[in-house]
Amino acid sequence: MWFFNSPEICFGEGALSYLAQLHGTRAYIVTDAQMVQFGFADLVKAQLAEADIETRVFAEVEPEPSLDTVRRGAELLRAYEPDWIVGLGGGSAMDAAKAMWALYERPDLSADGISPLEYLGLGKKARLVTISTTSGTGAEATWGIVLSDPQEKRKLGLGSRETLATLAIVDPALASKMPPRLTADTGLDALTHAIEGYAATWRNDFSDGLCLKAVDLVFKHLPTAYAHGDDAEARERMHNAGAIAGLGFINSMCSLAHAMGHSFGGAFHVPHGRCVSLFLPYTMEFAANRGNYRYADIARFIGLDGLGAEQQTRQLIAAVRDLENGLDSNTTVASLGIPRADYAAAMGTLLDHAENDTQIVASPRQPDRAELEKLFWYAYDGKPIDF
Ligand SMILES: [Zn+2]
Repeated sequence: MWFFNSPEICFGEGALSYLAQLHGTRAYIVTDAQMVQFGFADLVKAQLAEADIETRVFAEVEPEPSLDTVRRGAELLRAYEPDWIVGLGGGSAMDAAKAMWALYERPDLSADGISPLEYLGLGKKARLVTISTTSGTGAEATWGIVLSDPQEKRKLGLGSRETLATLAIVDPALASKMPPRLTADTGLDALTHAIEGYAATWRNDFSDGLCLKAVDLVFKHLPTAYAHGDDAEARERMHNAGAIAGLGFINSMCSLAHAMGHSFGGAFHVPHGRCVSLFLPYTMEFAANRGNYRYADIARFIGLDGLGAEQQTRQLIAAVRDLENGLDSNTTVASLGIPRADYAAAMGTLLDHAENDTQIVASPRQPDRAELEKLFWYAYDGKPIDF
């Protein structure tokens, strides 16, 4: 038995105006200070005002939102009693909105208790709208929640199928002003979701097509969106790709690159998309070295024409590296300026947190601790390593 979950998705030019058709009384917009500064919060408020929905804004979500922020937000929600919660921004704002929604409806829960094993009974007080202003986290279309626990310097992977938005707005206009670095980081996150979602051991017939399509969209449109941010078609297709990859992986699973990326990002504060895409080709090689050539399907789908599955797999891994280099992204840990000694000092924690990350369970090849350490070192400088 398995499930396929998706919010209602309103996408394309003008999608934001669909907010004016909602029915409700009060909406709490969960976002960050930049979204207010860019005028996006006002755009959302204006649409909701047309629907006679009163609004209030919580603009205190920080990157890598903490448990404390979520708890504080949930208290404000309980005082305001909204019937809509709107998560507006990148993955951080939308994830914070999901967690605050859960704690608003279930004050008895602790934030780290938002898990697939717990019946939450959400939706009695409010519904959730997610509006993405970046193209790639997929958070608008997924129920996953990543929060940080600053005391323990680690990231928490939370969420349950119930923390899926009721409605996701995928309007490319909101992502059209992203600077190139953010475009690349978030777009490569989408690529990692799609490739990992396709290769994960939890893959299934419902998620496969979404993952393939998302990989193809990223290869075709991310270089243009990065180099020519005013290219409307590239922006729109990448905005779609982010949501499609989100749907793909949340109905399958991510795997090793996300486990390593979460662990590394939590320790060294590197943006999520940069981390997971940095580790991606190494983890693909790791799986391929034991004869996992499922990546060959992706290679063929995007038009790589090697002879046989092994060659196609190697071609895809090379294509991922070429794409990342073309986007001036980091393909080694050393290129981020992290000294070898600091990395070595953190290695025990990196391994612990990666091994305990929820995403590791669906890896196409499960590493033992020694192999995981080798992989972390391989990604340090890219010097070939035997595994
Ligand atoms: Zn991701």
